[in-house]
Amino acid sequence: MKKDHDTREADLLLYNAYLYPVDADPIENGAAVIRNGKIILVGTSDEILKDWEKHVKEKIDCHGDFLMPGFIDGHGHFNGLGNNILNLDLLNTRSWQEIVDSVKVRAQKAKAGEWIVGRGWHQEKWDTPVNPNVNGYPYNDELNAVSPNNPVLLSHASGHSLMANKKAMENSHVTKETPDPVGGRIVRDASGVALGVFEENAMDIIYGGYKEFESYKDEADRIATWMEATREAGRHCLEHGITSFEDAGSTLDEVKRYQQLAMSDSLPLRLYVMVHQPLEELKGHMEGFPILHSGNEMFTCRAIKAYIDGALGSYGAWMLEPYADKAGWTGQNVTPVEDLRKIADFCMASGLQMCVHAIGDKANRTVLDIYEEEFKAHSDKKDLRWRIEHAQHIDPGDIPRFKQLGVIASMQGIHCTSDAPFVVKRLGEKRAKEGAYPWRTLLDAGVVIANGTDAPVERVDPIPNFYALVTRKRVDTGQAFFQAQCMSRKEAIHTCTLANAYAAFEEDIKGSITTGKWADLVLLSQNLLHCPEDSILKTKVLMTMVGGKVKYQNELFRQ
Ligand SMILES: [Zn+2]
Repeated sequence: MKKDHDTREADLLLYNAYLYPVDADPIENGAAVIRNGKIILVGTSDEILKDWEKHVKEKIDCHGDFLMPGFIDGHGHFNGLGNNILNLDLLNTRSWQEIVDSVKVRAQKAKAGEWIVGRGWHQEKWDTPVNPNVNGYPYNDELNAVSPNNPVLLSHASGHSLMANKKAMENSHVTKETPDPVGGRIVRDASGVALGVFEENAMDIIYGGYKEFESYKDEADRIATWMEATREAGRHCLEHGITSFEDAGSTLDEVKRYQQLAMSDSLPLRLYVMVHQPLEELKGHMEGFPILHSGNEMFTCRAIKAYIDGALGSYGAWMLEPYADKAGWTGQNVTPVEDLRKIADFCMASGLQMCVHAIGDKANRTVLDIYEEEFKAHSDKKDLRWRIEHAQHIDPGDIPRFKQLGVIASMQGIHCTSDAPFVVKRLGEKRAKEGAYPWRTLLDAGVVIANGTDAPVERVDPIPNFYALVTRKRVDTGQAFFQAQCMSRKEAIHTCTLANAYAAFEEDIKGSITTGKWADLVLLSQNLLHCPEDSILKTKVLMTMVGGKVKYQNELFRQ
């Protein structure tokens, strides 16, 4: 008797929802019962209300709105996102002048010597090209004028180049004689004058100056800023219906901090982290790794992040054939292949997943080659789920290899439409059509596509990402990019939820509305499966729930 009563007790009942579980068909008048943060039953509202209404502590009427598993961002930079919120956000800037003006405002308020940091500019997205320019890049003269005493460091939207002012270059000890480092370039004009633009590995010179300044700050100050950024990132994600985030590169120190937050129940959402640090610094420091399901399954760290090339916009993507708009140039290999092999060995020996950033078709092929070799040498190890981050431009011949090797293509829908203005320019029509963001071809070949926003490279908002996946249309101009490669709506939702859970080895605990999984849910104002295409972007997050707790609710949310 007692036992029966116990099993009929629950904390929360959500009902009257258009419930899309992702791993099953939608339930039109759906309901879910939650106990101890987990889903214990899914069904129709009529059935569930009849049996459970008297046995739950709380009920939420969803008023027919769209209930689905919380979004999982499959690739982003969690603390970078938070920092971006704290720093200058240049993602929406439409001209160089607008950027100069926003630096000017910061410089007027900044303490002497303090660095002004920003991110998100992109010269291809300006309404009018800047003059004078080199490859479309401006000179830093205006930045020097508005900020003579404060170093300025403005990262490119791609994360693969930056603009520094004169003060930042001085503080980073850059002189006329400073050579280009291996795998990087200090952009100079025909007369040898450096513009202030640093590409790929050359960015480290300016980061060095910035880090030197930061190192004079005391540890407590730095950690306080880091914590603030983490809080901001969490808040921002929850507002956008994101219940799990896959961080594509943190240091071991950051991993420790995240784990402590998880253990003290202070992580706002579930976090999966890839470690990004030089191999020599990792060796001997991986005790306790992989970190699985830490802090009540809020934190996981089981992967290593590495880079093989740069980005397409800055001509850093490593291509099999030269760029269409840069004769003879095939991009940059930023980590020697031999070193990537060593990282692969290290991952295999340590039981870690390997995740390599690869944009160009040569980069993707080379990573597949490295993985294939490593898997062959360790054929006893199964279900490794190694990932290629971005997998952006793939030679059609390499697409079936993802499936054959079980490699996950960890892509970003929104990159497709936001890069659209320059992809054909860089690659030419044929390569763009056959191998740029080839989602349809990958899915048809049975490849698992994980999906993210790469925030803060793009906004962390999953709705524009979803729109890009199902339409391949730009939000501003409506211009479509090779629509034959679109995903269906169900496929798109799958890549933003369950596929990301799979890519983190966590499909047994999250990613769908299924009995036994965590109640990580989002309630949306529109039905993503059926709303008209042109209204998708108007979709609002009404409520976000992590582990059965409401972590965000919009003023439109009626309980
Ligand atoms: Zn990234």
